[in-house]
Amino acid sequence: MIVGLTGGIGSGKSLVASRFVNHKITIVNADILARDVVAKGSPALAEISLHFGQDILDAESNLNRRKLRDIIFNSPAEKHWLEALLHPLINAEIRRQLKASTSDYTILESPLLLETEQYKLVDRILVVDASEHIQIERASQRDNSDPQHIKQIMATQLNRQERCARAHDIIQNHGSIDELYQQVDKLHQLYLEITQTQHTDN
Ligand code: ADP
Repeated sequence: MIVGLTGGIGSGKSLVASRFVNHKITIVNADILARDVVAKGSPALAEISLHFGQDILDAESNLNRRKLRDIIFNSPAEKHWLEALLHPLINAEIRRQLKASTSDYTILESPLLLETEQYKLVDRILVVDASEHIQIERASQRDNSDPQHIKQIMATQLNRQERCARAHDIIQNHGSIDELYQQVDKLHQLYLEITQTQHTDN
């Protein structure tokens, strides 16, 4: 069974994922894979620099993410071009890692699970939910960034209601970290039960 773990920026996905790791569950992290496919020297990065020009690279030939973000923020057409290039590559890598996992079930952690086609790769959707106020506070503290910048990122993501409406399971992250972990532990038991029933059925 593959569980998709998602939630808005600052909702607590990473913390939830770390708790599942304690239970020896494999996490496939879409954000990390998305960075890997445009690593220095990768074919995708070569395509990007052909399309946008060498200026999109920094002095060390790494992708200048800020520059790319600014371009696509201001141009839906360029955003579309970039997504058409990267999404299939990212999805192929996600599929490969999900297949390689040997834990009782596997978690796909992705901030854009429901905004992209990644949700099609999972059997169940787990949403971490926190109020927008809490998201902004926690994420701006974590990243040492301007709350306005966090709000801009939130505007590119689904809102809470839309996201929660698509969840099979919801973790509320309005309290302490202990309370968060307790909810993860309960879900872990549920997921084990589901996978065991599936095995018996087969
Ligand atoms: P996401 O991965 O969804 O962006 P994180 O898991 O990184 O969110 O959480 C955002 C920040 O808030 C992190 O610094 C994290 O340690 C902190 N945090 C998350 N949940 C809680 C909580 N219940 N109490 C206090 N801090 C929290």
